[in-house]
Amino acid sequence: MSLVVLALKKRNNETENVALELVSKAKKFYNGEISAILLAAENSDESKNIEKLSQAGVNKIYVIKNTKLDRYSTLYYKEAVLRSLEKINPDIFLIGATVNGRDLAPRIASALGAGLTADCTDLGLTEEGKLAATRPTFGGSLMATILSRTTPQMATVRPKVFKMNEPNYENKPEIEEISVNLDDVTDNIEELNFVPKTFEDTPIDEAEIIVAAGRGAKEPETVELVKKFADKIGGKFAVSRSLVDLGLFKNDIQVGQTGKTVTPKIYIACGISGAIQHIEGMKNSGTIIAINNDKDAPIFKIADFGIVGDLNKILPKLIERE
Ligand SMILES: Cc1cc2nc3c(=O)[nH]c(=O)nc-3n(C[C@H](O)[C@H](O)[C@H](O)COP(=O)(O)OP(=O)(O)OC[C@H]3O[C@@H](n4cnc5c(N)ncnc54)[C@H](O)[C@@H]3O)c2cc1C
Repeated sequence: MSLVVLALKKRNNETENVALELVSKAKKFYNGEISAILLAAENSDESKNIEKLSQAGVNKIYVIKNTKLDRYSTLYYKEAVLRSLEKINPDIFLIGATVNGRDLAPRIASALGAGLTADCTDLGLTEEGKLAATRPTFGGSLMATILSRTTPQMATVRPKVFKMNEPNYENKPEIEEISVNLDDVTDNIEELNFVPKTFEDTPIDEAEIIVAAGRGAKEPETVELVKKFADKIGGKFAVSRSLVDLGLFKNDIQVGQTGKTVTPKIYIACGISGAIQHIEGMKNSGTIIAINNDKDAPIFKIADFGIVGDLNKILPKLIERE
């Protein structure tokens, strides 16, 4: 019995946090061996990534090496993973649903003839020890727990759905280097230029402070106040589904079950009632602050701090404050 997490890396060669989150979750439901696959160029220094995965609690790390693996490439990575899986042969294979993870997971599943449960919000085991992968379905109105008939049982999970465990500094996993031969693989993609993201482009699920507007801020002057306040405190502007449904904003800044899952240090909900589908996407935020004119709004039940009052009166005062 073995569970393997694919530890893809960011552009700066650091392991994506979602891999550590997946290991943390796996430690809670899986008693067998938990391993990670790390892909790296021949001469790349992977000590920091190995340290992070060790502290997350893996029992074993497979470092897959080849000069062609210096940065993410769909075809080289796909082949390298497939060729290493022949040796590792896991029962369960988990991948973060990041941009690269979403690119890779279906290609690997398809090449293996395996099923893939994408964008899961929970993972566990059945009594028979099968992976039980839960995800919203029918537009988010039902949660489906899906079992796979094929092996490896594959699932992807969005970043920040699971919390990272406290680091275990005592853990000393076994490290195995595997050299894969990719001489017969050609990448048909050429990178012409790389433009780093600016703060403006940062997606809301990477923000440390979020100021979110709901239906209570739907009037143009109120929404402007919320945006201004977000700018003032260096936060990202986000919305509840109401404002998306009204056609005012696109879904990429929507928080909730059918939007993004966010865990900023500070989440400020402006004119958001606190429907379960909204809470699902922000309940793990650090400090939650709610501004709402209804003292009985459900959002106050999960808020650390609450201000009862009209946004049009409160926000100008907060914006004016030095
Ligand atoms: C399948 C499904 C999936 C869904 N997915 C999502 C999702 O991903 N994200 C999401 O957000 N919702 C989602 N929803 C919708 C969700 O159920 C709620 O309808 C929605 O979250 C309500 O948005 P809201 O809080 O902005 O609006 P409302 O519930 O209308 O709340 C507005 C709040 O603003 C307050 N208010 C009004 N005027 C002011 C003022 N001047 N000053 C201060 N406060 C004021 C009111 O008291 C009220 O509490 C989903 C629903 C379904 C069925």
